[in-house]
Amino acid sequence: MIQALGASDGIAIGKAFVLPHWEWELPDQKIDVADLAKEFERLYEGVRRSKSEIARMKSELDEAVGAQEISIFDAHLAILEDPVFMNEIQGIIQRQYKAAEVAVKEAIDHFVTMFDLLDDEYMKERAIDIKDVGNRLLKHLLGIPEIALPEDTQPFVLVVRELSPSQLIHLRPELVLGIATMVGSPTSHAAIMARAFGIPLVMGLEGKLGTPIGTGDLLIVDGGTGQLYVDPDPGTIEVYAGRRLRYQAQREQLLSLASVPSVTPDGFPLTLAANISSIKELDASLDQGAEGVGLFRTEFLYMDRNHFPSEEEQFEVYREAAERLQGKPLIIRTLDIGGDKQLDYYEMPVEDNPFLGYRAIRFSLDRKDLFKTQLRAILRAAAFGDVQIMYPLIASVEEVREANAVLDEARRELEEQGIPHRSGIPAGIMIEVPAAVAIADLLAEEAAFFSIGTNDLIQFTLAVDRMNEKISHLYEPFHPSVIRMLASVAEAAKKRGIPVSVCGELAGDIRALPIWLALGIEELSLSAQAILPVKQSLIRTRKADCRPLMEEMMRCRTAADIRRMAESFRAETDSRIAKDAALG
Ligand code: PEP
Ligand code: MG
Repeated sequence: MIQALGASDGIAIGKAFVLPHWEWELPDQKIDVADLAKEFERLYEGVRRSKSEIARMKSELDEAVGAQEISIFDAHLAILEDPVFMNEIQGIIQRQYKAAEVAVKEAIDHFVTMFDLLDDEYMKERAIDIKDVGNRLLKHLLGIPEIALPEDTQPFVLVVRELSPSQLIHLRPELVLGIATMVGSPTSHAAIMARAFGIPLVMGLEGKLGTPIGTGDLLIVDGGTGQLYVDPDPGTIEVYAGRRLRYQAQREQLLSLASVPSVTPDGFPLTLAANISSIKELDASLDQGAEGVGLFRTEFLYMDRNHFPSEEEQFEVYREAAERLQGKPLIIRTLDIGGDKQLDYYEMPVEDNPFLGYRAIRFSLDRKDLFKTQLRAILRAAAFGDVQIMYPLIASVEEVREANAVLDEARRELEEQGIPHRSGIPAGIMIEVPAAVAIADLLAEEAAFFSIGTNDLIQFTLAVDRMNEKISHLYEPFHPSVIRMLASVAEAAKKRGIPVSVCGELAGDIRALPIWLALGIEELSLSAQAILPVKQSLIRTRKADCRPLMEEMMRCRTAADIRRMAESFRAETDSRIAKDAALG
């Protein structure tokens, strides 16, 4: 048994499919002399595909972006037509009998090293272009990124070095029984998505495996405890098969709560809305009784294609979501790209600290053309339901004002063009940067509502990278600083009379439930799988009991003390649940 990090609850038993870690780690594969012509044809086919992909992206982006971005595509096309670059690749195949992908990689390394050594900015940029276009060519030669699975693929346990959100999108999630990753942490977006799909996930196996896992090995993934078994004995398989059945039965039993009102026994409602990133997830959330959508992560709409989605494409998705919700609120968060969320078709700058970098509202305010397209689509969809807007990563009053100015411009344009839409919809902000907490009183005057993004707020408050598994033990939601921040945001919102909700992963942690009730949080926004377990506790938790507990927590000096209190409170609730179940 290997102990790793449990990142998405549930048990999977199945054969491993090991995703090749292709980037820069190719075996030095040789080919037969007789296959030379075939290898050249593979190379040319890869070049053809890369060129048509680049040309398509160029024409799709033509209208949306400036001339400078377009010129990058021209530079990439030129490299693929450059006789020096192509001769180098062909020479390696012909003289050394190496496979096309190996030759491409060696040629890239050769030119990149050569250009990097020159003390010339222009040439250094050419090195980046060669790396990019070479990567694209490699992806085509290796059949990546659309990790194309054969039609008859049987369900499998995915084993991957590091899972990215776009990889998960390109896979067929219905085939993925479970996932095991070498690196990564439970608050990464890939982990959040695995939870949304209900796929058991263990992370952080690096250095813990005696021998590498091979495709076809039988695995057991326990995403609750973080345990992984490779080629388990029949007794272990039987034990886990039983646990899996019990887990599924519990989930089915919980479904009976879907239509039960989410109110405490002493009569205080707490709205349980859903975090979604697609219509598919919306459907799953509605099945679990979601009372609306508190966070629509729109970036996945941008990842699921090879170009920026047009206004029309976005409008269709937002409208469909609004209609399916039948009047329940739909909070659409504007694009939060950057950090661990990248686009295959748009080159973000390489940054040392991407989570502190060019992302979210910063990107939108820099690319107002793209931002306005999204806002127009949202305003148009607002004619079909209770649609609201939310800006991510707000750190200042100026950012809210600037974003609202673009929103106003979008509204005016639609009005002038006579396009149906709804104006005056609430525009709220995410509170996920400590600066925003410190000025929450000022922001409350600018924003229609607050939604606390605990994932980022915890990482920034504690200076603990949410992606770094080496320090994941320091990622401590019950740190006194976090508890104080939550309390001060709630107080600022109450003072100004604006609603405050929580949409980070901590909202789905049942131990934190008394904190929300004590602080008078109106709404939790949760991944589909977390809604009913939280409701099960909520309907047995008296708000009156939470206030003294919170007061005690606020007096604690260590995270361990706060966590202990939260856990013993939860244990009492659990025993009430068990007692009620026993009584039938
Ligand atoms: C958060 O930071 O808590 C949040 C909900 O946003 P995301 O996880 O998408 O960064
Ligand atoms: Mg965030």
